[in-house]
Amino acid sequence: MQSLRFKAIDNLTSVNGEVSVESPAKITDIFGENVFTLKTAREFLSDDAYKSLVSSIKTGQKIDRSAAGQIAAGIRQWAQGKGVTHYTHWFQPLTGTSAEKHDSFFTLKGDGSAIEEFDGNALTQQEPDASSFPSGGIRATFEARGYTAWDPTSPAFIMNIGQGLTLCVPTIFVSYTGECLDYKAPLLKSIDALNKAAVDVCHYFDKNVGKVTATLGWEQEYFVIDEGLANARPDLIMTGRTVFGHSPAKGQQLEDHYFGAIPERVYAFMRDFEYESYRLGIPLRTRHNEVAPAQFECAPIFEELNLAVDHNTLLMDVMTRVAKRHKLRVLLHEKPFAGINGSGKHNNWSMATDTGVNLLAPGKTPKTNLMFLAFFVNTIKAVHDHADLLRAAIASAGNDHRLGANEAPPAIISAYIGGYLTKVLTAVEERVGDKFDEQDEVMLKLDIHKNIPELLLDNTDRNRTSPFAFTGNKFEFRAVGSSANCGYNMTILNTIMAETLSSFKIEVDALIEKGDKKEVAIMQILKNYIKASKAVLFEGDGYSDEWQEEAARRGLPNLKTTPLALDSLVTDKAKHLFHKHKVLSHVELEARHEIELEKYIKYVQIEGRVIGDLAGNHILPASIRYQNVLLENIKGLKEVGIPADGYKAQMNVLVEISDHINKVQVLAEEMTEARKAANALATSREKAIAYCEKVKPYFDEIRYSVDKLELLVDDSEWELPKYRELLFLR
Ligand code: ADP
Ligand code: MG
Repeated sequence: MQSLRFKAIDNLTSVNGEVSVESPAKITDIFGENVFTLKTAREFLSDDAYKSLVSSIKTGQKIDRSAAGQIAAGIRQWAQGKGVTHYTHWFQPLTGTSAEKHDSFFTLKGDGSAIEEFDGNALTQQEPDASSFPSGGIRATFEARGYTAWDPTSPAFIMNIGQGLTLCVPTIFVSYTGECLDYKAPLLKSIDALNKAAVDVCHYFDKNVGKVTATLGWEQEYFVIDEGLANARPDLIMTGRTVFGHSPAKGQQLEDHYFGAIPERVYAFMRDFEYESYRLGIPLRTRHNEVAPAQFECAPIFEELNLAVDHNTLLMDVMTRVAKRHKLRVLLHEKPFAGINGSGKHNNWSMATDTGVNLLAPGKTPKTNLMFLAFFVNTIKAVHDHADLLRAAIASAGNDHRLGANEAPPAIISAYIGGYLTKVLTAVEERVGDKFDEQDEVMLKLDIHKNIPELLLDNTDRNRTSPFAFTGNKFEFRAVGSSANCGYNMTILNTIMAETLSSFKIEVDALIEKGDKKEVAIMQILKNYIKASKAVLFEGDGYSDEWQEEAARRGLPNLKTTPLALDSLVTDKAKHLFHKHKVLSHVELEARHEIELEKYIKYVQIEGRVIGDLAGNHILPASIRYQNVLLENIKGLKEVGIPADGYKAQMNVLVEISDHINKVQVLAEEMTEARKAANALATSREKAIAYCEKVKPYFDEIRYSVDKLELLVDDSEWELPKYRELLFLR
């Protein structure tokens, strides 16, 4: 029987260019057409209902029952006009993907007559049977219910799956006893905490600021490969990455893929998912090839943080679905292929005031620059003081392959600010005495606007090896994994920023109380902060070994693996921090720690099983078949009287193959034993560490022999599509 590998290769030519993609004349014609935007709301809601919705979005005010009923009716009218029959509360449980449970508008009344209904209760709250979502031990088994609650700050949208249209209401997901079970609820709280702390600091500079919103523009990297080939790789299907595969003769060394022409089949897929995204209001802007073969990136225009997170989650879903239409598979895993770059998500983050100021953009005058400097230095201080939490924020089994593998930022958290701002900070730090007025030397140095060319230079020539880089008007958190839910890491970033800003406020106020002029007080505290957090600034090559040594000298944490990196979630410091800013309670934080550990364990466990299965069912049988061919050949040659010298080559290959077969078999058994030992441990933390340190090392050892066998065994016997096929055939 022909193996799936060869069938897939045969099919490749026939699937090319099969899907036709519609092309609307203008993106603006379709943008947001499947979103219940405020503009749509204006059309479908009464004045009162509309006002209530707007004020809830702006101020977080609760929507009362009767308004909720009216809003629900308006949303249903709009949705039904578009052919929608079902609705769902759309939420982001801690599994990392989005979740939905569809209900139809259709219902029966007491007298048996059928009606279509979507009332205020259905809009604002649902009780999904949530017992199979991760809760980290929060939800007792006797109380398996959780509920989802409407988040009016993210508009409802219509999801188009196949021919079906579903109204999706973005919601938070909490346990029956009120603890958060998702990414969104703590995110909203952290946005709130940051808003409060940032507005307070803004008031030193501008009393008119009423609200500060965090902003996010993510860049999403991903791989695209042929679906038929992917289906012939059980490891890709089960774990999202290839556990075996010898490097192809050509990898990324020619550097011919980055920014190259997008292959036609992928281009059709991109256009298709972009159109679908536009309809959903996702403002995609950029698309290009990435460094590795078959790797690509897309990025939207930045948005308010909560919406940007929803849009990223939604996009990952849309991409995955649309790819199917094109018989392609999107790989969002951080490291689908060994030997070439993995994928990340660059989170460009900043804060904006309701007066229209980007708080991380240098201003035009020394005075506005002082505000910029305050937020800039506070960000650096936050990163310095809570580097351990930022590290935990990006920890996952997938991202462990990437961080520190000389292709992505190291596991050491540092910040890059560029040469020019380094000079500015040094000038502030080295300033002596507390004389301070707008004409003094340091203040003039702050006239950053005059030096925009220097700033631009830093920005264009910026350091791609830094996990947290300032890029002119925002910080780019570059260490986030490609499959991560942005909500999680952004919650942590917002919270540490809220904490730093609120301490800053207290310290500045104390100096003002003592009689210092406001500007002097601010400069003084900034100066202290620069001194205190200097160690986290690094402008050099983050991939280099020297940085590992230098970082150790500076005392910066360098936690290379997830189980250990996660410890910082449950330190007293972290518990105090998240509790103080009302983002996560102790119980919720403990639960999250537990969930992340469990995720890690399960993931590595599944990988281990897949490696064992593939070795046993695919690799060894194929290798043994070829071993027999060689054996027969040698026997035959011997029989007809060929001297040993005449079949030396065959003998050598036979010996090598036999050697690797033995190794794979023995190592796979040892790995199974190591898994059993890990499973027997008492706590999740112990298990995770054992999986990391005792089980995972076998993966590379087994892979080494399997990849050697791939080179030795007759190509026609090899059942798993090879890297050259996965990466270059489409
Ligand atoms: P690149 O990093 O590839 O050079 P850009 O710097 O232009 O690309 O933008 C990367 C992302 O940063 C985009 O999504 C962009 O909208 C976003 N971005 C720009 N300004 C801000 C901001 N003030 N806050 C958050 N994101 C921003
Ligand atoms: Mg960028």
